[in-house]
Amino acid sequence: MWQTAPMSELIPRYQTGTPQNLEERFAHRASGMLASEIRSLFAVASRPEIVSLAGGMPNLSALPMGMMASVVHDLIATNGAEALQYGSGQGHPKLREQICEVMALEGIRANADDVIVTTGSQQALDLISRIFIDPGDVILVEAPSYVGALGTFRQYEAQVVHISLDDQGLIPDALRAGIESVRASGRKIKFLYLIPNYQNPTGVLLSADRRTEILNICREEQIFVVEDNPYGLLGFERPSPNAMRAEDSENVIYLGSFSKTIASGLRVGWALVPPSLKEKLVIASESSILCPSNFTQMTISSYLADQPWRDQITSFCELYKVRRDAMLESLEEYFPASATWTKPSGGFYVWVNLPPEIDTKLMMPQAIVAKVAYVPGTAFYADGLGTWAMRLSYCHPTPERIREGVKALGGVVHQELARRKSGYELS
Ligand code: PMP
Repeated sequence: MWQTAPMSELIPRYQTGTPQNLEERFAHRASGMLASEIRSLFAVASRPEIVSLAGGMPNLSALPMGMMASVVHDLIATNGAEALQYGSGQGHPKLREQICEVMALEGIRANADDVIVTTGSQQALDLISRIFIDPGDVILVEAPSYVGALGTFRQYEAQVVHISLDDQGLIPDALRAGIESVRASGRKIKFLYLIPNYQNPTGVLLSADRRTEILNICREEQIFVVEDNPYGLLGFERPSPNAMRAEDSENVIYLGSFSKTIASGLRVGWALVPPSLKEKLVIASESSILCPSNFTQMTISSYLADQPWRDQITSFCELYKVRRDAMLESLEEYFPASATWTKPSGGFYVWVNLPPEIDTKLMMPQAIVAKVAYVPGTAFYADGLGTWAMRLSYCHPTPERIREGVKALGGVVHQELARRKSGYELS
């Protein structure tokens, strides 16, 4: 009988070591390719004994798997030859039509010809960065902003400039001041990137008035707006304000995703772009992936055509609302009075501000000992700010586990504050 050695033993040793001078051999842009703080946390946070308030994984427990299985089965049985074949670089025509129907829920009137389907909206972020950013160009983002977007902008060697937000979202006056100071320094602004609905990481909803004001500023200043909207349909109390793209089809690049409303594992998102940008974006996408997966696009298309997807979104909202409530109640109960936090009306996240003497990155090992994980605030800033803050996600754990986790974390924060206080008294 053949005895096969493990592959690692068959490969000569010289092939398995790290090549010499690797850093010098990489392209310059590779120096900006750093694992996000969230990624490095995942290994620890996913241990079963840890309550993870860290990752923003959608909760699939409300998605009927039997129904999904039959959608996939019927698709392959009836249309397998197309579903398992290469498809259009711009995306499946029928799905692009259906995407327009989904966007209509947020007041957007779009032409399917201006929709480009992507492998999650993350790929759309990459494509937009690729066609717009030269090294040193400035991208304006909220303070704080989505870690995955910051990583993409860094890879394209952009300079990220944060613009303040409050509980009504990005502050228009701060935007004006930001634009002025960047321009005064002679730098080029390529676009404003923002997440108006239930922002990642703060959960904040941009007010309707500010939407209009921000659009006006950007139009006047000839700065594109990249509206990233994966959470827009996940409002708990009432429908979200119309998308910014509904007000301005010329200057807004809109990014959507089925990751939170259907299933993130299908990796289907899209960009709706002004017609003048479409060609470049499709070419950029073809050069990176040839075409998005026909199989997952057609799965989504069949699901949207035959299943009660609006009701399913309502079920997701109910599931997240219960968890949001559990988190806000337990923060109230277990966190010190000196802490403040956002009160999201949709989405996945709460942003907690602690007294400035606390460094949430340094506090992380204590939290892990207490069996709870979060994401330190610095992950969401390109400039090292955020040491005093943390993002807590309520999307995944059960309400009981959320309470357990927030209680444990509250204990850690209390301890840390006491330690700091006694340290100051001693010094
Ligand atoms: N934008 C934001 C604000 C997000 O939170 C995420 C995922 N967490 C994405 C984009 C990427 O989503 P996907 O690629 O799954 O569509």
